[in-house]
Amino acid sequence: MSAGDTIYAPATAAGRAGVAVIRISGPGSGTALSALTGGGDVPGPRRATLTTFFDPHSLEALDHGLMLWFPGPDSFTGEDVAELHCHGGTAIMAALLEALSHVAGCRLAEAGEFTRRAFENGKMDLTQAEGVADLIAAETEVQRRQAQRQMAGALGQLYEGWRADLISALAHLEADIDFPDENLPDAITAGQRPVLTRLTKEIFAHLDDDHRGERLRDGCHMVILGAPNVGKSSLLNALARRDAAIVSNQAGTTRDVVEVHLNLNGYPVVLADTAGLRHSEDAIEVEGVRRARARGDQADLKIVLYDCAATPEPGTDVLALLDDGVLVANKIDLAVDAPRAGLGVSSVTGQGVDLLLDRLADEAARRMVGSGVPGLTRLRHRQGLEDCRGALLRALEQGDEELLAEDVRLAARYLGRITGRVDVEDILDVVFSDFCIGK
Ligand code: GDP
Repeated sequence: MSAGDTIYAPATAAGRAGVAVIRISGPGSGTALSALTGGGDVPGPRRATLTTFFDPHSLEALDHGLMLWFPGPDSFTGEDVAELHCHGGTAIMAALLEALSHVAGCRLAEAGEFTRRAFENGKMDLTQAEGVADLIAAETEVQRRQAQRQMAGALGQLYEGWRADLISALAHLEADIDFPDENLPDAITAGQRPVLTRLTKEIFAHLDDDHRGERLRDGCHMVILGAPNVGKSSLLNALARRDAAIVSNQAGTTRDVVEVHLNLNGYPVVLADTAGLRHSEDAIEVEGVRRARARGDQADLKIVLYDCAATPEPGTDVLALLDDGVLVANKIDLAVDAPRAGLGVSSVTGQGVDLLLDRLADEAARRMVGSGVPGLTRLRHRQGLEDCRGALLRALEQGDEELLAEDVRLAARYLGRITGRVDVEDILDVVFSDFCIGK
């Protein structure tokens, strides 16, 4: 892989569509565009121009469409970029990609390579590049908003602001070390301590966010727990409004964990149905129960379900699972009296299901909405911040000025790694491996 290559890839998803887009980036983009459009000049910058696409060798007309020309550096990647807007059909795309493969110096892009070039050419920092990937992957309104903010640079700016403060503190500390005889050196070092203390506090607060940003990116995990046959699979289906889980009146049918992805008022939720909790001699069912309990322990919210039409009343063993979860009384259509505890629903008639969905949406929102500060969205950010905070805590305890300065330098470097400002080579692959080809 070389940054000097000209790369091309479909920018739109495979399949039939009215229009599909092929993107080309690199020094040979203009030549490639010209080769495919009959040898003429490239059109004026950023103007959609109707053209015929030809096979450069056979000169067979392949399609009729639009071409766009974005000369660098004012393009997505910062390089010369061309776009071919053709009809969205499998054979048309294949023919155009094949034609491009014969243009000297052009090759198919690797996963994430367009965005990687945008990063390498200073068009965006790493958190913004991750924002691009998250935006494309966003399935709900709130996920889209978070990704858009990150892509616009909100998170990167927060970290860069902190890093700028650290670098300024470092400059003062180093001046103190280099010119110890100049006026009041200790006072200079002492003057930086409040800055370091403030940054440490801000980073602590940012990390102590109950994983909101990560949860919003990945979905809030909720799990339905309860005894066999209380209607867990039926409730999952009622909530998902489709038959995602196996429903059966034979106890112990849901032996594995079944998941559905829900969009609750824009909040992404991953809802899991689990094996009924009971003692069993059956090895597979025992494993299912073990997984259900483990799943419950990891979940962001437990939905504990009982059958309010059955006697006896739910035992303390089920209620003990509740923590701060939601207690739901199922089968109210069969019960004579109103349920003694919990939100009454019927997974069969649908009664109470909308109320439960509202309640779950509130619970999801409570776990994902933060203060206005952009939330960190990846483990990579969390690790970088934890390393930074560790270095700052060490710095604050240092008596020796040079060691103190070294810890501050490290702290700044850890922050820089999150945005990609320093020492980035080794983390580039991690970031861009999430991408697919054409981004
Ligand atoms: P699970 O073992 O807890 O997952 O329970 P299922 O969802 O498989 O349901 C067990 C049985 O109860 C099935 O026959 C369902 O049709 C029935 N059932 C579930 N929910 C309700 C409900 O709200 N009302 C009524 N009448 N039957 C229900």
